[in-house]
Amino acid sequence: MHIVVLTGGIGGARFLAGVRAYARETGDEVTAVVNVGDDVIMHGLRICPDLDSVMYTLGGGADPERGWGRVGETWTVKNELAAYGAEPSWFGLGDKDIATHLVRTTMLNAGYPLSAVTEALCARWQPGVRLLPATDDRLETHVVVDVPAAGDDDGGQRAIHFQEWWVRYRGDVPTHRFVFVGAEAAKPAAGVLDALASADVVLVAPSNPVVSIAPILAVPGLREALTTGRAPVIGVSPIIGDAPVRGMADRCLAVLDVPCTAAGVGGLYGARSTGGILDGWLVDTTDARTTVPDLTVRAAPLWMTDEAATVAMVRAALELA
Ligand code: GDP
Ligand code: CA
Repeated sequence: MHIVVLTGGIGGARFLAGVRAYARETGDEVTAVVNVGDDVIMHGLRICPDLDSVMYTLGGGADPERGWGRVGETWTVKNELAAYGAEPSWFGLGDKDIATHLVRTTMLNAGYPLSAVTEALCARWQPGVRLLPATDDRLETHVVVDVPAAGDDDGGQRAIHFQEWWVRYRGDVPTHRFVFVGAEAAKPAAGVLDALASADVVLVAPSNPVVSIAPILAVPGLREALTTGRAPVIGVSPIIGDAPVRGMADRCLAVLDVPCTAAGVGGLYGARSTGGILDGWLVDTTDARTTVPDLTVRAAPLWMTDEAATVAMVRAALELA
């Protein structure tokens, strides 16, 4: 069986660890289609936060406490950049992490697509699942906010990169909407349509629906491949008991006026039979009374406390499929 997972970074990586453990027992093949909307160029380096979170987590190199970046990280370069007053100073790049971005940027500059670069980086990390960026093209999530810029007293709207909204402002500025810059012209990355065509089931990881899953679905052709494919599509709720377990999905959902509930997110994805993407929606047992129009809803414990608990979630999702 071929399992395809749509995923963001940290939440998706934890879920993928469970999918991988399940697949090791069954011999199933796993492909992860990873969000690139968080990608950004800083200090001349191409940074892919979600691809790296997944790669480091599955490769055993992630920092479990911080949740992002490398374990045993040092910050010499960051401190040196700060000594120059080099901006952006609000974005932490660790020394070990920088090596990844150097290799990636060098390969991209030499003309390799991001999918090939990711495969090359994974030769070191051996994540045990195939990692594909949603697109090889530039697709960046920007956020339209009210942030007065220096010398600007009109308090007008401006678009900032998602990383600035998330890391610098913690999503705590008046926010109007998210824009997936470049999405209209983006094509699914090499391998993505083939993966979806050969999928026996597609799982939507319990990732941020607004800024991790939506940018993947914004790639023209990708959403269609999902909605017209033969594989059942099962979503796993990132919201438990009206709260995002970790992270700031509540801030993102508020911008869309979507309630931060399992029903709200299920409704945002929608049923495939009525123009949405899902055939089934897996919610936590505390949300067992959730209903979403036209969608089969099942409940199971959705706390990814350890790998065994996550494998049980994956089993429940596959049973629903
Ligand atoms: P990011 O790209 O690093 O922000 O990570 P993702 O978008 O892949 O995942 C972030 C989301 O994972 C958060 O918004 C949470 O709602 C969700 N999440 C984190 N831990 C858990 C968990 O244990 N169970 C469930 N169901 N969701 C979780
Ligand atoms: Ca992310």
